[in-house]
Amino acid sequence: MKGEPVVPPIVHSATYRFESTADLIDVVQHRSGYIYSRWDNPTVREAERRVAALEGTDESVGFASGMAAITTALLAHVTPGDAVLAMATYGETVRFLADYLPSIGVPTTRFGPNETAACLDRLRRGATVLYLESPMNPLLRILDVETLAAAAHEGGTTVFLDATFASPINVRSRELGVDIVLHSATKYLGGHHDVTAGFACCDVPTADRIWKMRRMLGGVLDPTQAYLVWRGLQTLEVRVRRQNESAQTIAAWLVEQPHVRAVHYPGLASHPDHSLAARQMRGFGGMVSFELDADLEETTRFMDRLRSIKLATSLGGVTTLANQSVTNTHASMSVQERAEAGIAESLVRLSVGLEPVDDLLDDLRQALNAVAA
Ligand code: PLP
Repeated sequence: MKGEPVVPPIVHSATYRFESTADLIDVVQHRSGYIYSRWDNPTVREAERRVAALEGTDESVGFASGMAAITTALLAHVTPGDAVLAMATYGETVRFLADYLPSIGVPTTRFGPNETAACLDRLRRGATVLYLESPMNPLLRILDVETLAAAAHEGGTTVFLDATFASPINVRSRELGVDIVLHSATKYLGGHHDVTAGFACCDVPTADRIWKMRRMLGGVLDPTQAYLVWRGLQTLEVRVRRQNESAQTIAAWLVEQPHVRAVHYPGLASHPDHSLAARQMRGFGGMVSFELDADLEETTRFMDRLRSIKLATSLGGVTTLANQSVTNTHASMSVQERAEAGIAESLVRLSVGLEPVDDLLDDLRQALNAVAA
């Protein structure tokens, strides 16, 4: 039959049949085809190749969630006695690094965003893995990935970067020296709030190592989710560019509002990492955090008044979402831990979507009026 489908088919088959035993052995030994969908699946491979191409890596390995990608990639790289250094804030990742890894004999030392010098110093004594996250949740601090990666490589340390907040459009992680780029594709890559998926992007030997761990642990990407990621990727660049623009407009507008005490956005000259972000990023991103000049109750009133902006966790999709860190992403932290991390009770995090920016400003304006009332 002439004519190829323009979009990849969703292959639901969990297993694959062979004409001969010799063919089957070839696939088992050389990964030259498909044998079983926990190993590989044609739709998942389409998504993996597309993500790798966007990220500028030779390969990528797809997972059932961002956390499956993070934990599987880390487990593929550490054995008892190894040391991990980390600059990361995503709660579940921190629990894995700070609680789980030490329990299997892999001590993790964590550094805050103001402790790059201490991390560089510690790297001189050697480590197996340097795990980074940039931009960091929720204050959108930016790490000097290039400097950290160069120092890590001097001692043979493997560099991981969770680039979920940046997306491959805003940061070229490979060019900064990252070995393994991690994405929660639930966010920008999928982009429509209808996918849970994750990817680890890297060179072929590293992908093979991570793939073998995925095959064993089993957190593989589902073919339907892989298709939705593939489809989301077709519009990634236009979405992210528009989100960057709208976020910059909203951040600049928020700075002018009397009931807003602080705005955290790397694209503002007032952000502590603005010049680093301008050097390292191709766009400042679609995430904006801000503190209201309000107590907890007034902040809750603001959140409850939002209309077109949805009160929901997650980020990176077409719909603008707002969450209040203390009741949501950082609810499990003590008051003291939050104070140390600079997370105020009135901190609101916005994931800017694709709605007309004037509509978003109107919604924010009417909700801010509720704080004053
Ligand atoms: N990394 C970051 C920075 C995230 O924000 C998230 C989820 O919010 C994850 C990883 C985990 O991704 P998933 O929810 O797809 O497991």
